[in-house]
Amino acid sequence: MSTSKTKENKYKIAIVPGDGIGSEVMEATISVLNELDIDFDYIYGEAGDACLEKTGTALPQETIDIVRNSDACLFGAAGETAADVIVKLRQEMKMFANLRPVKSYPNTNALSENIDFMIVRENTEGLYIADKEEFTDEGAIAKRVITREAEERIIDYAFQYAKDNGKSKVTGVHKANVLKKSDGLFKDIFYEVGEKYPDIEKEDFYVDATAMYLITQPENFEVIVTTNLFGDILSDEGAGLVGGLGLIPSANIGNDGALFEPVHGSAPDIAGKGIANPIAMMLSAVMMLRYLGENESADKLDSAILKVLTEAKVLTGDLSGSATTMEVADEIKNLIK
Ligand code: ATP
Repeated sequence: MSTSKTKENKYKIAIVPGDGIGSEVMEATISVLNELDIDFDYIYGEAGDACLEKTGTALPQETIDIVRNSDACLFGAAGETAADVIVKLRQEMKMFANLRPVKSYPNTNALSENIDFMIVRENTEGLYIADKEEFTDEGAIAKRVITREAEERIIDYAFQYAKDNGKSKVTGVHKANVLKKSDGLFKDIFYEVGEKYPDIEKEDFYVDATAMYLITQPENFEVIVTTNLFGDILSDEGAGLVGGLGLIPSANIGNDGALFEPVHGSAPDIAGKGIANPIAMMLSAVMMLRYLGENESADKLDSAILKVLTEAKVLTGDLSGSATTMEVADEIKNLIK
């Protein structure tokens, strides 16, 4: 059996705690990661509002380099500068896939007990790119770019994710009845790529119908793949389905790197009090462990988190408990041991 002195597999992990509760949930998460039989080398980088004030930039080149030279990055939260920091890091690292799991946990405000699906969102094009907008004499125009290369890449990622994670169905989401060229192409590519995965069921829905089905039959989804803006909107609908932001992790994946972060922001209203819920950050670490291929450790941490939520004895205020951030971390550490 390995001990902390003979930990296996050394990884360089970029740690960017950022603003507000980011550093609190990060500290809690690192304390539980240190209980696993994996050797992490943490390299800290600055980013966010406080960094902007201190250095004049919200995302210094040094931080980009730290992320680039790591095996993966854990990111806490950024306040007002969040979009600049995350959008820039996604671009710099060419992180083309945004993954948002939607899963119901016990003792939360989930609409149903059996929700468990993954939204795979294209992150590099579509109707979400600020420099594709311009003012015109009549008003303004935004260009929605859909390329075969980027859509094939994200759709293939979604099918491969399904295959690797024992999922039996992938749902392609578009609006091809109206956007016949751009979303028509997305739909064609969805089925073309799907042919490579004969064992996985394929279905496609219009985005408006999907928005409704997420409420009426959320248990029927396993993996959803869609373009940038549709993915953005459906992801937040997914957060609402399982009871809000406090428990939701996310991943940004590229060929040269990956970044894992909770969906919530810096929560200035509770920052500095030590009462933030660290579970969204810890579930982001679970996603990181799976990305690194450390599935056994990921399962260990995931089950410990599930146990804490099921027992409901040590929970933070957002889940109607009274525990501190570090008390939740300590409980999870005990369960891992
Ligand atoms: P930002 O400007 O950084 O996005 P925000 O307050 O607008 O901050 P969030 O940080 O996502 O947005 O917070 C929204 C609400 O949810 C706040 O009331 C916050 O306290 C609460 N909240 C967010 N994350 C957590 C958490 N991890 N634990 C407890 N409460 C949280």
